Amino acid sequence: MKVLVINTGSSSIKYQLYEMPESRGLAKGVVERIAEEVSKLAHYFAGKTHAVETKVQTHEEGMELILNTLVSKEVGVIEDISAIGAVGHRVVHGGEEFTGSVVIDDEVIASIEKFAGLAPLHNPHNLTGIKASQAKLPNIKQVACFDTAFHTTIPEVAYMYALPYDLYEKYRIRRYGFHGTSHRYVARRAAVLMGKDKYDINAITCHLGNGCSVTAVRQGKSVDTSMGFTPLEGVVMGTRSGDFDPAILFYLTDKGYDVKSLNALCNNKSGLLGISGISNDMRNLEELARKGNTRAKLAIDIFCYHIKKYIGAYSAVLDTTDAVVFTGGIGENSVWVREQICADLTQTGVELDSTANEAALAKEADISTAESKVRIFVIPTDEEAAIAHDTYELAG
Ligand code: ADP
Repeated sequence: MKVLVINTGSSSIKYQLYEMPESRGLAKGVVERIAEEVSKLAHYFAGKTHAVETKVQTHEEGMELILNTLVSKEVGVIEDISAIGAVGHRVVHGGEEFTGSVVIDDEVIASIEKFAGLAPLHNPHNLTGIKASQAKLPNIKQVACFDTAFHTTIPEVAYMYALPYDLYEKYRIRRYGFHGTSHRYVARRAAVLMGKDKYDINAITCHLGNGCSVTAVRQGKSVDTSMGFTPLEGVVMGTRSGDFDPAILFYLTDKGYDVKSLNALCNNKSGLLGISGISNDMRNLEELARKGNTRAKLAIDIFCYHIKKYIGAYSAVLDTTDAVVFTGGIGENSVWVREQICADLTQTGVELDSTANEAALAKEADISTAESKVRIFVIPTDEEAAIAHDTYELAG
């Protein structure tokens, strides 16, 4: 059975076609700049790349372009659309309602619409993708996989904020967490690498990309995570601040900042970019820091320090930790960041093998010393494969 995985953004649709159950990727790509003057398609298949510039006005047209490309004589990988057995969609927010992936029906669509207020930058676009896909593939099952679902096992003591309780009752203000599909995927891979059952692992998973979050996984289930009501909370990110004293916002309001500018300040101008004043990209910062740029170095130092603090905190939450896992663009590739985070963590049983760390680039690896009480893994995340897996299970 072939499963198409779709990840829709405001002006883009990413796609990946899998042969299931073996999870073999047949093709992947992205339609970008939808509704702009010139749109772009990049399509990867059988080790080749096919890139075209064209005009795509709507997400529905984008879906049509993707399907036409998948069946094209020259660059396609299937003979006919009917070969696609199901479509899996990434949906960012499933609120408290969705504890796992679900087959999409009218009720599910209504719920995703309902949660749009909690994820205004994502859910409406995810929904547009679902509707475009339903329009083009009306007779096949569509599945929604929620970023929040893995975190619905977090207990009340960890998901409630110490704000007036009625804010939770009235507005459902609580920690939801994000990147759940990634945390679940790498936690399960870590269990496999340790020869454990997926519900028999305690792990601290660090998803470090442009957005970053750290999750405490007990017995295979999320019990706490650093992102909260929105993806702004937690560790330092590319352009997001992570944790800071919210009273700073009141102070800045007195200085003339309005809500819109504070939102932009915290989400788009802070984090690695805000501290360094130069870049949100870890590669750039490492290069600059090596050349002596002190602000780039400070940005990396603060980034690593915050993650180290979360690992310490989650070690306490978990009581015993089997593994610390690094994933995401930075987690999978940055030797520097992994080394700095793991330095002096021996109190929590984490002991890095520097040579193994240097050799581990974007591939699964155990980078802990033989003596380390806690395994340290680099595990490239594969959210699409996890979505394809769920979709296959539900639609098969
Ligand atoms: P997203 O969250 O948008 O999916 P990624 O997971 O691709 O982003 O992560 C992007 C981050 O990974 C960027 O900060 C980038 O600099 C960093 N990164 C990628 N490769 C390397 C590398 N070799 N060394 C250090 N950082 C890297």
